[in-house]
Amino acid sequence: MVDEDKKAESRAGSVGRKVLAVDQEICIACGACEETAPKYFKLKGDEGKSSVIKKNVDEKDIEMIKGVITECPTEAISYK
Ligand code: SF4
Repeated sequence: MVDEDKKAESRAGSVGRKVLAVDQEICIACGACEETAPKYFKLKGDEGKSSVIKKNVDEKDIEMIKGVITECPTEAISYK
């Protein structure tokens, strides 16, 4: 099973890399993340909740993304 997971990660090219994610259940569609980091977040759908449009964070943007995570009022954003 673990080997299968590793293969899946390898196919996704994400071995050892953190990925950005938004928990749609928690997001309240305030728009703060999209406003600060439109390269990574976009409000979509009927409820306008945030979706990650670029899950691999560029090295130069890591500090900015940490700020966005801190600013999210519902702690819906993760980067791990
Ligand atoms: S900052 Fe948080 S609550 Fe606001 S839209 Fe982004 S993910 Fe949703």
